[in-house]
Amino acid sequence: EFDVSAPWLNRMLERKPKLFVKAVDDVSFSIPRGSCFSIVGESGCGKSTVARLVTGLYSTSGGQITFGRGDAGRPVRVQMIFQDPQSSLNPRWRVGDIIAEPIREMKLRKTADETRDRVEELLRIVGLAADDATKYPHEFSGGQRQRISIARALASEPELLVCDEPTSALDVSVQAQILNLMRRLQLELGLTYLFISHDLSVVRHMSDMIAVMYLGRIVEMAPAEKLFTDPQHPYSKLLLGTIPDIHVPNRDREVQNGEPPSPLSPPTGCAFHPRCPLATERCSKEAPQLRAAGRSMVSCHAVQKGLATIPARRQD
Ligand code: SF4
Ligand code: MG
Repeated sequence: EFDVSAPWLNRMLERKPKLFVKAVDDVSFSIPRGSCFSIVGESGCGKSTVARLVTGLYSTSGGQITFGRGDAGRPVRVQMIFQDPQSSLNPRWRVGDIIAEPIREMKLRKTADETRDRVEELLRIVGLAADDATKYPHEFSGGQRQRISIARALASEPELLVCDEPTSALDVSVQAQILNLMRRLQLELGLTYLFISHDLSVVRHMSDMIAVMYLGRIVEMAPAEKLFTDPQHPYSKLLLGTIPDIHVPNRDREVQNGEPPSPLSPPTGCAFHPRCPLATERCSKEAPQLRAAGRSMVSCHAVQKGLATIPARRQD
């Protein structure tokens, strides 16, 4: 299990309120080994910050991240796959050297021959040819470059892969191929994924659990199929293209589309209240807490009072 819990950044924020944006707050989840946990939300919701905290690219000023044991009892290895392989692959290096670097650095193979064999094996695993090792990144398409970055991530034999929008720069058909590859690799290699996306449809078939984030907080966390068939939080319904049904109060108000407010000055109370069709006065004053609602965890006063449990209706 990989546990992430926080109040992130709080202490630092209190001291230097102008310098730090509270990017994530009170975010807790654990990821069972071999599963895929996805975080979904609009840009600025803090999902990438959580990803970078987990990989150690950012450090926390509060809260903790704990990892179970890795394979053979060693510490868990975490690798990250980014949205844009163009900028994460060194253009002056041959693909074979890009993939071999972690193998050499971590001394995972004894000889140059073994390292070369391993690089060729990794290229095959991600659907590329062994002789692609001699080419440079610019000789490949966007989808192929993402395959190269996956091969490089796998080279260090990680247990946990943190994937930040790995397919959002790709065409839809290529996107599906990369997602299928990642799904297959997960099953074959027993990988654990923390998957970050702004697009719920991308994570639908990847995920075991999905957390929906809004302005630095998890507003709903549920098993994937539960979230898709029975979303609870008004914001989850917005992301899924559904709106609360006519039986709920304020029926003439729709969920406000458009951009979320700035994380620099989040709204008081429930941060979603300016866009929420169910908002009451309480919502603008008192922040809801994440609580169990059936098999979901939901942070919403209306849901917790049983007011938003009427099934949502698909708009399309
Ligand atoms: Fe809407 Fe209030 Fe629930 Fe926030 S707490 S999502 S404003 S009903
Ligand atoms: Mg991001």
